[in-house]
Formats: sequence, structure tokens, C-alpha cells
Amino acid sequence: MTRDPTAFLKEEYEELVKQALDWRLRELQGPSSPRAMVDGKEVIMLCSNNYLGLSNHPKLKQAAINAIKTHGVGSGSVRPIAGNMDLHEELERRLAKFKGAEASLVYQTGFAANAGLIPQMAGKGDLIISDELNHGSIIDGVRLTRAERAIFKHADAPDLNRVLNEAKKHKPKYRRILVITDGVFSMDGDIAPLDQIVKIAKPHGAIVYVDDAHGEAVLGEGGRGIVSHFNLSHKDVHVEMGTFSKAFGVVGGHVSGSEWLRKYALNKSRTWLLSGSHPPPVAAACIAAIDILENEPQHVKNLWKNTDYFKKALNDLGFNTGMSETPITPVIIGESDQAQKFSVRLYEEGVFALPIVYPMVARDTARIRTIMNAALKMEDLNDAITAFDKVGKELNVT
Ligand SMILES: *Cc1c(COP(=O)(O)O)cnc(C)c1O
Repeated sequence: MTRDPTAFLKEEYEELVKQALDWRLRELQGPSSPRAMVDGKEVIMLCSNNYLGLSNHPKLKQAAINAIKTHGVGSGSVRPIAGNMDLHEELERRLAKFKGAEASLVYQTGFAANAGLIPQMAGKGDLIISDELNHGSIIDGVRLTRAERAIFKHADAPDLNRVLNEAKKHKPKYRRILVITDGVFSMDGDIAPLDQIVKIAKPHGAIVYVDDAHGEAVLGEGGRGIVSHFNLSHKDVHVEMGTFSKAFGVVGGHVSGSEWLRKYALNKSRTWLLSGSHPPPVAAACIAAIDILENEPQHVKNLWKNTDYFKKALNDLGFNTGMSETPITPVIIGESDQAQKFSVRLYEEGVFALPIVYPMVARDTARIRTIMNAALKMEDLNDAITAFDKVGKELNVT
């Protein structure tokens, strides 16, 4: 008998389980809300990307229902053939205006935006320079190009300068250089020094591409994102990429910049050209999310008020929150199994926050990553802080 050619599936999966590196899926029973049902227990939600609670906002829900009534549940095609609806076009016009850009293009997801556009921005004879902690979708996008690659130290503008000076000596001269960075780093909650990156990239004639998935609806004027946060423009940050799946509360990736960027991206990105467009309720709900950001500034304000209160309380209790400067606050524990244990104990105490362990972060910096939510009440925050205090003492973290 020949060996089952799929035997590796079970073997390699079991190896992951042995190393405690497998994902055990939790079940969210009902909406993503500040107090949510997870695996049959009500918990304070501290690990959702739904920063502003928009995924369950009545105006988004109504917009989605209305769009199903007028446009149906599917678009019927890819955008370049028969699936380009008025709702898709309206969303892009609204997003460009919100971002202060000439034009925007919406992709199915943020992952599809990075995987589709990055390989078209640089190819043979080009160089891509990446922050060492960039998101996996950037890494995969870069892997799809034939460009050469270089890394600069995390959020280290002088090191980017070093790499660019090195690149200048390359023979033959690089045709194009693309500098790419996350805006807010999702494991540490720190902000890329985009103002310095722009300053350093400019004399080298390099393209600047920022992935602001965790900065949107968080940083900048009314949540306009990192370009607004640093008072920059799309003349200097050539590609501002983001997602509707995080604080916007829905799903979908996007890029904003010049009109030429939009035209080029939609003609070249294979993930955009060859994959079905968003269902009408998705586009309509995203438009409603922009409406809310433009008209209800209290959500972003509450998010920061909650963030400041919670971060200070954790620091006062003696937790190490690393270099966080945003609503992503890591609580650094150390060893992976300690972080796993910490998360299980938090869940038992009614707080839902997951551990981030190797290989996502270095082996000895396993952490509980918390993400603040604008809709959490003071009493929820105090309950969460009490749980952290209790478990921290119990496991000798504080
Ligand atoms: C979440 C995330 C993405 C992917 O966005 P999706 O729309 O969920 O596919 C890309 N980049 C960064 C930095 C992210 O955090």
C-alpha cells in the first residue's frame, strides 16, 4: 500500500499542537460588542479591531439593509466587467474626500490591496525597503515582486537613511526605490516616524507607501489616519493604504493618493481585476462608517479617553506596556506559556484578550495584546483592570 499523500496534514498539525503554536478558535456568539458572548460566557472585549464599535452601529446596519433591498446581496462580477456598482464608486469618492486625496481605490480586503499593489509598484531593477516589523500582507506582497529587498530597523529613520545611502552606490542604479512601513504597528502599538521617513526618502526620490490599517479612525483629525496625524500630504506619502475591516467596522482594503495611482492600480492589481467586488451591503455600510466619522467625533474622543485611562492604570499596577502610544496596549509577560496562562485566567475572570507569542514576537516578549474600544464604560474598564491586577499578582508578573 502506498502512503496517504496527505499524511503530512495531520502530522504537521500535531507538531503545532505539541509546541502550543496552534490556533484554537473562539466562537463569538452575537455581535462584536464591548461586552460580548464568547464560548458561552459574557466577557469584556479587549482584542477586537472594532475600535469604535461601528460593526454594530445602527446606521451601518440600516445602510446595509437598505442596500440589499435596492441592489441585492452580490455584485455579480468583478469590477472591470459587470460588477462596478454606483455604491463602489460613491464609496471611493467619499473615501478620497475623507482622506484629502485626489482619488481612492477599494479592494476586497487590505491583504488583497497589499498583495495586489506592492508587486506592481516595484519589479526587476527596483529596490523595496521595509520596516523589519511590517505586517504579513506587506511581506507577502513583497515576495511577489522581482525587486531586490532591504530591511531597516524598526521605526528607525536614521537606519532607513543608512540603507538609502547604501542603495545609492548600487550598480546599475536602481530604477525605482519603494519605502514601505506600517503606520501603527499591530504588536506594539507604536507609530512609525512617517514625518522623518518622508524627509529622508525625498532627496533619494523614493516612493513612500504606508499601511495605516491600525491608524485609521484612531489617529489624525477626526480619525483621518497617519497622514493627517503628521500633517503630511499625498505629494509626499504617495500611497496611503488602509482597511475597512478594523475601526471602520466592515471589511475591505483601500489605497489613496493621486488620480494616476488609482488608474494604475486598478489596471494592474491582479487581486482587484480577478476577484469579485464587494456585495452592495458592504459598500453601503462603509459609506455609512465614513458618515459617522465625519459627523460623530465623540467615538474617536472616547477611544482615546479610554486608552489613556487604561494604559495609565496598567502602568501604575507595574505592568510593562512597552512602546505603545495608541489604543493597542501590549502587556508584556515574557515566556509563551506564561502568556497563554495569563489569557486563560483573564477569560475566567471575564476579560477577553489573547496572547501573542513566538513567532509573531520574540520568544521572551510574549504578551497579552489589548485593543481599546470606544464604547467600553468606566465600570467595564475598572472590572478589566481589577482582573489584570488579580491575575498579574497570581502569576508573579507584577
Ligand atoms: C489587518 C491588517 C491588514 C489586512 O487588512 P484586512 O482588510 O483585514 O485584510 C493589512 N495591514 C495591516 C497593518 C493590518 O493590521
